[in-house]
Amino acid sequence: GETVGGYDSAEQLSRRLETHRAHPARVYDVFLGGKDNYPADREAAKAGLESNPRGYCDVRHNRDFVRRAVSFLVEEAGIRQFLDIGTGLPTQQNVHQIAQGIAPTSRVVYVDNDPVVLMHARALLTSGPEGMTDYVDADLHDSGRILAAAAETLDFEQPVALVLAAILHFVEDDAAHDVVARLLNALPSGSYLVLSHLSADMNPERITEVARTFQERGFTWVLRPASELTRMVTVNQLREVDPGLTPVHRWRPSCFARSEEMIGASETSSEDPEQLAGMELVDRMNLLGIDDVTDEDINIYGVVAYKP
Ligand code: SAH
Repeated sequence: GETVGGYDSAEQLSRRLETHRAHPARVYDVFLGGKDNYPADREAAKAGLESNPRGYCDVRHNRDFVRRAVSFLVEEAGIRQFLDIGTGLPTQQNVHQIAQGIAPTSRVVYVDNDPVVLMHARALLTSGPEGMTDYVDADLHDSGRILAAAAETLDFEQPVALVLAAILHFVEDDAAHDVVARLLNALPSGSYLVLSHLSADMNPERITEVARTFQERGFTWVLRPASELTRMVTVNQLREVDPGLTPVHRWRPSCFARSEEMIGASETSSEDPEQLAGMELVDRMNLLGIDDVTDEDINIYGVVAYKP
């Protein structure tokens, strides 16, 4: 019969969606100015903004860091394959649009464990004819399954960029280190890691308060210091690409032309009162661009590293 986002029944889907609870992918979507979120997600986003009013800057600048890192890898490092784990809800410029915009033969495998992302995965499967994309509904911890599924699209004899953008802060201590090591082990020499990660280094009081807000709503939120992220790179024998680990807005800030869509303009097309519930917040955020950012605003590190 008819399947919904890969589910056998609407009931099965709605059980896994847990719309009464906030989910990371959907809260992230609220901050980007997207529409694929529910009242619980908007409530969580609002609560986070109470402790850190410029919190959406982290999300938008993280997304822009991913754009620059992928552009750099395709344009300057010759990378044509990406494994993007913790994809998030589709935007207009996902990894494959960015990569294929520069090199149409680029191949991208997306992985996320959120059922809402799965529901919208069709937007991630819009590869141009010369390239390829796939979507894998899997948990980061399940590296064996991810690698086996990715091998249907990616050639693991050729360099692959592993993209772990704004996902590892949802993963507890040892598991995060183990899974990164296992994934990097499977990649050949010449591969890359793109990592971004929230930290309390920059504004400890404010960000610890945000962490508490989200932890109360059932998220795992592990803030890691720069030293631990650097160690993640070095224990796996990777070498940081210039400028090394930096707050995301400081990573090659002026490289690669930005597309308008990247900023996540929202279309407020719904009259649905549920959708309107969070509108004030979203509207306010969307009136603001990302170019007025200051060092004070950013609490997320980015790094691109090379596997010799
Ligand atoms: N990488 C995107 C989106 C980040 S939002 C970007 O940087 O813009 C984080 C995403 O990670 C969410 O979509 C969430 O569903 C996903 N995620 C969190 N924990 C995960 C896990 N254990 N396995 C797979 N995906 C996970």
